Amino acid sequence: MKASNDPGFFGNLALSKKVLSAIAEMGFEEPSPIQAKTIPIVLEGRDVIGQAQTGTGKTAAFGIPIMEKMPESRNIQALVLTPTRELAVQVSEELAKIGKSKRVKTLPVYGGQAIDRQIRALKFGVQVVIGTPGRLLDHIRRKTIRLSDVKTIVLDEADEMLDMGFIDDIEAILQSVPTVRQTLLFSATMPEPIRALAAKYMQDPVEIAVSREQVTVPLTDQFYYETRDKLEGLCRVLDVETNDKVIIFCRTKKGVDELVASLQARGYMADGLHGDLSQAQRDRVMKKFRDGSLEILVATDVAARGLDIENVTHVINYDIPQDPETYVHRIGRTGRAGRKGIAITFIQPREYRQLKLIEKLIKSRIIRSQLPSSADILERQRDVIKSRLARTIEQSSFADYHPIVADLAGEYDALDIAAAALKLMHEGYKEKAEEKPTFGNTGAESGMVRLFINIGRTQKIRPEDIVRTFADEAGIPGNIIGVINIYEKFTFVEVPEDVAERVISVMHKNSLKGYKIHVEPAKAR
Ligand code: AMP
Repeated sequence: MKASNDPGFFGNLALSKKVLSAIAEMGFEEPSPIQAKTIPIVLEGRDVIGQAQTGTGKTAAFGIPIMEKMPESRNIQALVLTPTRELAVQVSEELAKIGKSKRVKTLPVYGGQAIDRQIRALKFGVQVVIGTPGRLLDHIRRKTIRLSDVKTIVLDEADEMLDMGFIDDIEAILQSVPTVRQTLLFSATMPEPIRALAAKYMQDPVEIAVSREQVTVPLTDQFYYETRDKLEGLCRVLDVETNDKVIIFCRTKKGVDELVASLQARGYMADGLHGDLSQAQRDRVMKKFRDGSLEILVATDVAARGLDIENVTHVINYDIPQDPETYVHRIGRTGRAGRKGIAITFIQPREYRQLKLIEKLIKSRIIRSQLPSSADILERQRDVIKSRLARTIEQSSFADYHPIVADLAGEYDALDIAAAALKLMHEGYKEKAEEKPTFGNTGAESGMVRLFINIGRTQKIRPEDIVRTFADEAGIPGNIIGVINIYEKFTFVEVPEDVAERVISVMHKNSLKGYKIHVEPAKAR
C-alpha cells in the first residue's frame, strides 16, 4: 500500500506544497476519478465540460486547480454559479478549505440574505465568489460586484440551473465577465440547451466523464438507509444487525478518525485504518481485527486496498462511494467464498441521485431499508443479555457475589434482585435508543409529515400533478403520499416521515407544472 505522501497520489498532479498540505488537512488520500482527469486539464488552462454529480468530488475537481493558480490579489479571480443557496454555501466552504494555506477568501452570495451585508463583504475584498444566478445578476446590475479580473468561471450543476429557469441569467452573467477567461461547466446530464450554451461560450472544451463501464457485483445483499443523522443510524444498525466482523468505509482520513472516536466513546470495539498510520500501527489493528478482538474496522478506500480478511459479514459505506468501481471494490470485501455478505450504504437525502446512478451502473438493486426502531434495539438487547447470562451461569464462577444476593434476599424477592442488577448494568443502553423527532409537529397524522408548498389553485395545481411529480422526482411510490389539501395560493401534502427529508431536498426549488416551488415542513396551527 502506498502512503499518502507518495507522489502516486495528489502529489502526482503538479500541485504546490501549500495546496497539497491543505488537501492533506482535509483528509483526502487520493484524487477521485473525476479529479484525476479534470485537475491537470484545468491547470493547463483549457475549458472543461465535466459530467459529474454531487458525491463524485466535483467541487474539489475545479476547486483544487483554481486555488493552485490563484494569484495574490484582492479582486475577484473566480466566479462559481450554483443553482441553490445550500450548494453555494457548501461550495464556498469547500473552496475556502482548499485555499486556506494561500489565504484565499471565498464568499457565497445568494438571494434571501440581506444584500447590504453582501455588498460590505464584497467591498472587503474576496477572490472567489460563489453565487446563485439571480442574486449575482442583481449585484452586476447594481454595480456592487467587480468582475473585470475574473479569470475562471464555473457553472456548477448546470442542468439544475437550467431546470430552475436560470438560463437567461447565466447568459447575462457570461456576457459580464471578461471574454479571455477559462470556463468550466459541470452537469450530471447534458440536455440540448446546456450543449448550446457550451458551444456559444466555451473555447474548444475538453469533455470529461467518469468511466461508465459495467462492473460485476459479488454475491451480496445490498441495502441503503437514508438519514440525516448517520452516526445515530449506524449505531442502530450495529446494535441490531451485526454480530461478526464489520468494515466501515469513510471517504477521508479525518472521517475515519472522527468516526472511530465517536464509536469508541459509545462503547463499540472499533479501530481505524488509513494512510497516515505507520506500518506497525496498521499491523496491530489488522491483527486485532483478524483474531476477533476488534469487531469494527473503519477504513479509507486506500487503506483497505489489498486487504484480505476472512469472515467479514457486513460492509458499511458510512460515506457513499464517489464512483461505482469503488462501490464494487468495497462491497467485494464481504460475501467471499460463496457465502452471502451484506452491504449497507448510508446516504443523506441530497446523495440520493448518486446512489441511483451507482445502482444503474452496477445493474443490481440496492434496496431501501428502514432503520431499526428503538423497540428492535431493545428486543435485540434482551436476547444478548439473556444469552450472556446463560453463558455466565454455565461457565463462570460468581460465588463472590453470593453474599450480596443472600443479604438482600432476606428483604426482597429474588426475581427483583436479579432484574435490578441487570438494570444497573445496562442503564446506559437505553438512552442511545431514544428517538429524536426531526420535523417537530407539522399537524400531520402520526408517522407522516405535512409539507407546505407555495402554489395552489391559482396555478391550477391538481392532486395528480403533485403525486406524479413527487413520485417521479423523489423516486417514491405515488400511493404512499397521504392527504393533499389545495388552497388558493398554497397546498399541504402529507408524506411518510421516512421519505419527508428526501422529498423536501429533491422538490424544494424544483419545478412543478413549470412553476418553481418552495417545499418545507408545515407548522402545526
Ligand atoms: P462533491 O461531489 O464535490 O459534492 O464532494 C462530495 C464529498 O467528497 C465532499 O464531502 C468532499 O469533501 C469529499 N471529497 C472530495 N474529493 C475527495 C477525495 N479525493 N477524497 C476524499 N473525499 C473527497
